Amino acid sequence: MTPITIERIETRLVDLPTIRPHKLSVATMHGQTLMLVTVVCSDGVTGIGEGTTIAGMAYGPESPEAMKLAIDTYFAPAMIGRDATRIQALMDFVGKLVKVNHFAKSALETALLDAHGKRLGVPVSELLGGRRRERLPVAWTLASGDTARDIDEAERMLAERRHKVFKLKIGAKAIDADIRHVAAIKQALGERAAVRVDVNMAWSETQAAQAIPALADAGCELVEQPVASAAALARLMRRYPVALMADEILQGPESAFDIARHHGADVFAIKIEQNGGLFAAQRVAAIADAAGIELYGGTMLEGAFSTVASAHLFASFANLQWGTELFGPLLITEEILAKPLDYSDFELTVPDGPGLGIELDEDKVRRFTRDGLTKVTR
Ligand SMILES: [Mg+2]
Repeated sequence: MTPITIERIETRLVDLPTIRPHKLSVATMHGQTLMLVTVVCSDGVTGIGEGTTIAGMAYGPESPEAMKLAIDTYFAPAMIGRDATRIQALMDFVGKLVKVNHFAKSALETALLDAHGKRLGVPVSELLGGRRRERLPVAWTLASGDTARDIDEAERMLAERRHKVFKLKIGAKAIDADIRHVAAIKQALGERAAVRVDVNMAWSETQAAQAIPALADAGCELVEQPVASAAALARLMRRYPVALMADEILQGPESAFDIARHHGADVFAIKIEQNGGLFAAQRVAAIADAAGIELYGGTMLEGAFSTVASAHLFASFANLQWGTELFGPLLITEEILAKPLDYSDFELTVPDGPGLGIELDEDKVRRFTRDGLTKVTR
């Protein structure tokens, strides 16, 4: 039997506006750039994957432009002509040729899984061992930078039954101001909503030790990546009545094992891109389960393709104690799918069609596709 091989790999950069500025301790986002990769196979089946970063290069070492360049120049020539159906073996092979580049690898692996699912007529979740849930709870991030506006936004989300868990982005302002902001929002929402914070590594260990008890008093239930170092996060563990979550320091199974070995977090925020793909993220989840660390489905503020790929993976997890934050597509003003995702009753429905189970609106996306690598200002 002739193997089904990869014929062509195409990449494009799609610049999409966001519904409002999104303020993090590292940057303020006014739009989002998706790097979409299409893998065309010899049996005529195609798959689409996505690589997306938070605020260009403010969050991590890869940019959408660098992903496109790496795929066009290094990944694609090595992958063309190879068996498209042996996805783990193929990703192992390119992993030897290209170091790190986790986001680009995640995009390619997503495209291969999308294609293979379509080929076999099964959702990607079935290629990952089978889903355990059809719907995923989705938290929303309040990050307008203004307390009153954030409360209005939260009230609207509650009224629309879209979200009842809110993550606040803090760390850019003075600690006192941040704590007043969190306390005011929790007080306004009361028992109707859960409030969590993400500091995106902004604090020193002493600042974190000062702020976390006050956050706990304000009713915050989870503090995400308060400090940059894994050692400092481990030293903060078990000292406060609030759970601590690792995000930025989780960069694949080896880092997960290291954090678990040092009792370095209560919760892991799992992201497919940051960990280097769906299979790597699956191994991170297995390490967490084995270590008694709880799980949260994280986002790189991705568009529909990486969000849905993540949803297929998170649906297959044995444990998902803290739900997900797969709201990325809702932050973007433009719908890029032929049929929108179902966000309702505080949850996202995991698509059940073959592959990722979603279809790109090509006409729509063409209007937002960049010509080449350089960003044009609209
Ligand atoms: Mg985070």
